[in-house]
Amino acid sequence: METTTGSTVRVAGLVRRFGAGPQQVTAVDDVSLEIPAGTVVALTGPSGSGKSTLLHMIGAIEQVDAGTITVDEREITALGRAALTRYRQRVGFVFQRYHLLPALTVLDNVTVPVLPRRGRADHAARARELLDAVGLAGRERALPAQLSGGQQQRVAIARALMGAPGLLLADEPTGNLDSATGGQILDLLLDLRDRHGMTILLATHERAVAARCDRLVRLGDGRIVEDVDLTDGEDPAATFRRAAGLRL
Ligand code: ADP
Ligand code: MG
Repeated sequence: METTTGSTVRVAGLVRRFGAGPQQVTAVDDVSLEIPAGTVVALTGPSGSGKSTLLHMIGAIEQVDAGTITVDEREITALGRAALTRYRQRVGFVFQRYHLLPALTVLDNVTVPVLPRRGRADHAARARELLDAVGLAGRERALPAQLSGGQQQRVAIARALMGAPGLLLADEPTGNLDSATGGQILDLLLDLRDRHGMTILLATHERAVAARCDRLVRLGDGRIVEDVDLTDGEDPAATFRRAAGLRL
């Protein structure tokens, strides 16, 4: 698999509002975060606290009302159209419901992000490599419906890796899976961090998932209400004990 280097992400004073007048909701309310390369951040908080909106803004698929997003020293919020499109093609996005195209084979689902570009044979070769890396070698010609939920999420992760991202954004990636399968998906994400230094921002409701991340950022009504380093000089057992007591 092509080697990537993790991205550094800086978010400053980020705001996103929906609606107008008395019905207006501030989905993300003055959020600032510095995420060093190679960190796996669990983004937690109740439903409606702004997790998805924040991930979408960092992935440049949601408008920003105020504030800045800087990835690897490039201010995303200041990019023009063409540069934004290139940025979106590089960032990996994984969703709770996989978002695979049901009529396409596993292999074609993985190459979807690069379909309009040239060098299809190369793309297929890379897609095969990625499917192998996520444990799906031999399933290239299957249709999504023929796979289990965990396997479908692996396809979605392979697709997200197609652009060799330094940053992976995952919105409740284990939310549709039983805990054992969800644990395997998290193993896969942590392995990407270990082997490629990938930076991962992962929204989750699940305490067991958050506890295995490097850092926990909890949102409440669009604001950061808790930001804890789960690794800081602690041995893994102590990190686990502390994380086990975390409120999510
Ligand atoms: P979470 O992912 O933590 O559940 P969201 O980011 O989806 O939270 O939502 C945060 C708030 O913004 C909620 O009040 C939600 O209803 C609102 N919201 C999100 N997206 C939209 C939208 N496209 N239009 C209107 N309101 C939205
Ligand atoms: Mg959400």
